Amino acid sequence: MSLVQKTLAGAHVKHLKHTEEHVPEIIPTPKEVCISMSMHMGPPCKALVAKGDTVKVGTKIGDVEAFLSAPVHSSVSGTVREIVEMTTATGARCQAVVIDCDGQQTPDESVQPPKVEDHAGFVKAIRESGLVGLGGAGFPTHIKLNPKNLDEVDTLVINAAECEPYITSDYRTIMDRSQDVLEGIAAIKKYVGISQVKIVIESNKPKAVELMKKLTQNDSSVEVLALKAMYPKGAEKVAIYESTGRVVKEGMLPADVGCIVCNVTSTAFIGQYMRDGMPLITKCLTVDGGAVNTPKNVIAPIGMRFRDVIEYCGGYKVPPKKMLMGGPMMGTAIFDDSYPVLKNNNALLALDESQVEVPQEGPCIRCGRCMNACPFQLMPRQIELASQRNDIEALKKLKVMLCMECGCCTYVCPAKRGLTFSNKLAKQQLRAAMPRK
Ligand code: SF4
Ligand code: SF4
Repeated sequence: MSLVQKTLAGAHVKHLKHTEEHVPEIIPTPKEVCISMSMHMGPPCKALVAKGDTVKVGTKIGDVEAFLSAPVHSSVSGTVREIVEMTTATGARCQAVVIDCDGQQTPDESVQPPKVEDHAGFVKAIRESGLVGLGGAGFPTHIKLNPKNLDEVDTLVINAAECEPYITSDYRTIMDRSQDVLEGIAAIKKYVGISQVKIVIESNKPKAVELMKKLTQNDSSVEVLALKAMYPKGAEKVAIYESTGRVVKEGMLPADVGCIVCNVTSTAFIGQYMRDGMPLITKCLTVDGGAVNTPKNVIAPIGMRFRDVIEYCGGYKVPPKKMLMGGPMMGTAIFDDSYPVLKNNNALLALDESQVEVPQEGPCIRCGRCMNACPFQLMPRQIELASQRNDIEALKKLKVMLCMECGCCTYVCPAKRGLTFSNKLAKQQLRAAMPRK
């Protein structure tokens, strides 16, 4: 069975884009920031500064020589108060640099527009910028821009689908930073040598579709596609299929089908960075949920504590029942609001009691809705059963590693089965059973 061939697969989630007309507000510098050394997929960075050091805006404060890593920079000027051990939202441990801000926001002298002449120089500059996928995945962008089969890559997919409920930060990027987006696209095309660009936007954002079409009307290499508004059109493999008809099979990367996918806000960052050289130090977030007094989009320094972000948004209306980094479908629950803003946060949701359902699982009624909703035509109920039996061979046959944990199967299940969670467990079972390389 082919993958991602049912373009109507997915879930009709509520859009809840309450903040879409809210131009992001720049939050004033807080008194302190706590900058995590783990904001990318690979091993955490090591702090390059020590207690008492002076830092400026853009000073490199963390790095590690490892694949899938990206350096970390200070978002403020001030003095390092301490280096602490923090627990990430996924339970891993890493260092974090706590900085007392001096309020001056003095830029570091090293911050200069990068001098780039070729592909290698571009990749190096993007690594130095600290950029990781800003749509939520945290995959270092310089790795994406440097695939092994560079000669075979012909398509850049700019992912502006933003299909998760509530989140409007990418939409604001298009509406407010369209020039940065175009400059980012131009830089990637020039240095990576890509001939065609597909900009994918869900059709529930007609103003964004119209704007990008207007701005690119004289460029035959760029096509703007309005995708049917159905979650998860913004998933990488789905966006590739929708825009090119190419199928990224199990174990393949986008570059294997000639594509590089770049989130639209990451693209805008590249445009801005090539002009001013300021590394990634701020993040645009959608702050929403019934427990927040004034939902809005904000631009926060990376490392700002969530409680300070919420305070800027008028504080809590009621005590939150659940807090999420990211959207309700794929976001990560956080246990307290002292957690800091990370590079790949695109939303902070503080949900009230009415928005948090504690589902009571019932027996499977074999309706098949979970399979029909899955963009990869996986069989979540069969995966759940195989996981319960610890049947590794069955899990392999069921291709559980293709599961992107999008949550569609759980969302549509009338028996309220926790299928996404059982898929996560099944993937761990399979990983644990694989021989270590
Ligand atoms: S969570 Fe996994 S199994 Fe469920 S719909 Fe998404 S990709 Fe398919
Ligand atoms: S959607 Fe739920 S009830 Fe229906 S087959 Fe899947 S697990 Fe069973």
